[in-house]
Order: sequence, then structure tokens, then C-alpha cells
Amino acid sequence: MKSILVCGAGGFIGSHLVKRLKAEGHWVRGVDLKYPEFWETVADDFVIGDLREQSICRSILDRRFDEVYQLAAEMGGAGYVFTGENDADIMHSSALINLNVLQACRKRNTKKIFYSSSACMYPEHNQLEPDNPNCAEDSAYPAAPDSEYGWEKLFSERLYLAFYRDFGMDVRIARFHNIFGPYGTWDGGREKAPAAICRKVAMANDGDEIEIWGDGKQTRSFLYVDECIDGVLKLMESDFMEPVNIGSDEMVSINQLAEIAMAIAGKKLRLEHIDGPLGVRGRNSDNRLIEQKLGWKPTQPLRDGVQKTYQWINEQVKTN
Ligand code: NAD
Repeated sequence: MKSILVCGAGGFIGSHLVKRLKAEGHWVRGVDLKYPEFWETVADDFVIGDLREQSICRSILDRRFDEVYQLAAEMGGAGYVFTGENDADIMHSSALINLNVLQACRKRNTKKIFYSSSACMYPEHNQLEPDNPNCAEDSAYPAAPDSEYGWEKLFSERLYLAFYRDFGMDVRIARFHNIFGPYGTWDGGREKAPAAICRKVAMANDGDEIEIWGDGKQTRSFLYVDECIDGVLKLMESDFMEPVNIGSDEMVSINQLAEIAMAIAGKKLRLEHIDGPLGVRGRNSDNRLIEQKLGWKPTQPLRDGVQKTYQWINEQVKTN
């Protein structure tokens, strides 16, 4: 049994991670500004605390944890990170969290620390075409992310790598590509595309129109949360120190994603394309490095994950 700290344990991926770590028999402390919104935490200990405060980080790291997973961030979908209105908060809060957590981990001689970066750190100029984006890990530099969220992720990746080089800290860094699934934000402005589309489809009646931001031809790949956690645990078990993509390489357009959700719901809806924050034109996870280094790749088709997510969001829509 390991002793494990999960930062951001009240969030979407963090709460799923806590559940998995508990199922594997570990002792888990979670920390977040809030409890998980949609289900009870199963953490042994859950601290409500603000990781922007160094004193909080020090008090939470009151022992030498075997592993720390740092997922806390100022976070949201395109409607939150690409409008420009939240840039200062995103950069300031997330950078402070990473600075504080890492320093506290160093003082406590934490054995291993995981950091969740994002595909948003890849340069915009490699993602201008919907059909052939380049998100190979070695394409990160020269850096040119299209959002301040991406720049902060890049800064923090470098911070973790510097703590490895200068203090020998054992770090693991994953660049997540659009993680989705049940028990995640599905309305309110911070939801991401799969949840937003499932909600719109669930709320619509057959023959209605639903809104899609942009022309819907922008491409992405989406990874189901359970598979994301498989990848994270595999990375933690490995000795691979460089940033690596954790994502699906089943690339679809946003229109295709909407078609999948409609087919699952058994509804025929018209797509109305409207202006909205979009992000890059094309993005897909390049899984060659993770396959080569960890022998891992996701296996679940996108449709299966959307099915489970739709079912859960449909229940939320009906009961709210
Ligand atoms: P989330 O917003 O559900 O979880 C983040 C959690 O961090 C939230 O519960 C939030 O309350 C907490 N938090 C924020 N500020 C805090 C603070 N000052 N102190 C303590 N807790 C604080 O997001 P998520 O989708 O679970 O993402 C987890 C991590 O993965 C984030 O770092 C995110 O940037 C990264 N990521 C996610 C995706 C994705 O598709 N979901 C893609 C790329 C990267």
C-alpha cells in the first residue's frame, strides 16, 4: 500500500483517479477547493484547501508521500480558456499552485510526482490544418501555444523538469488531450466539447437545432477518463521522465462528434453553426512515443465513451 496525495481531487480527472487508487488499495489524501460535485469522494482524507497558499501546501504535505499527483489548475473548456477574459487568473493561479506544490514536495522529499500538462502547449502553427496537425512531443519548440493556459502548462512542465535536474526529483509529465467522461462539468461555462454536445443533444427534441461553435470542421481527439488513468498509472510505474502525450488518436471533427451523440440518443437534429471561441483548427494525439516507451495505447472506440457520457449527462439533464 502506498501513501498518495492527489491535488485537484475534487475535480473531474482527480476524483476518478482517487477512485482508482483506492480500488488498488492505497491510502489516499485528496486536496481541492471543493469536494467532487457529482459523487462522494472515497479518499481516506480530504482537505479543503487553497494550493495557492504555501502554508496550506506545507500542511498538506505533512509526511513523505510515496506519490503525489498534481492535477489542480484553473481550468475549463474553450468557453473559459479561449475568451481571453480569464487569462490572468489561469496563469497566476495555476503557476502558483505548481510552484508551491513542487517546493513543498521537495522539502518533504516526496518520492515521485506526476504533473498534468496539456496538448494546449503545442505550437499553434502546427495545428492550422484540420487534417494533419502535428502534436509529436518533439514539436513543442520553438514554442507558440495559442492560449495563456498553454503557456502556463509549458512553463510548469519546465519547472518540473528543472526540479528533476537540480534536485533529482522523480517527475512524470503527461500532456493530456481532451479527457472526457461521466462525473465531469457538463454546464455552467467551464464544460468541454463532449459534455456540452451531450447536454445539447439531451435537452433537444427530435428535429430541433443545436448550436455548434464555428463551422464544426475543426478536429480533435477525445480520450475516455478511465483510459487516461490507465495511461497515467502506466507512466508513473515507468522510469520515463520526458513529457509524453496521453490521448486518443481517433481524430474526429466537432460535427462528427455531434453526429455520434445524436446517433446514441436516437435523435435527428440540425446543427446551427455560430461564432464562438474555437482554439486551434486541428489537433490529434500523436501516440508513437508512448507506445514506444511504455507499450501503451488507448483501445476504446470514441463511440463507447460518448455512450457512457451521454447516458450520465442525460440523467443529469432530467433530474436538474
Ligand atoms: P477540473 O477543473 O475538473 O479539476 C481541477 C481541480 O483543481 C478543480 O476541482 C479545482 O477546484 C481545483 N483547483 C483549482 N484551483 C485550486 C486551488 N487554488 N487549490 C486547490 N484546488 C484547486 O479539471 P480536470 O478536467 O479534472 O483537469 C485536471 C488537470 O488535467 C488540470 O491540470 C488540467 O489542466 C489538465 N488537463 C485536463 C484536460 C481535460 O480534457 N480535462 C486536458 C488537458 C489537461
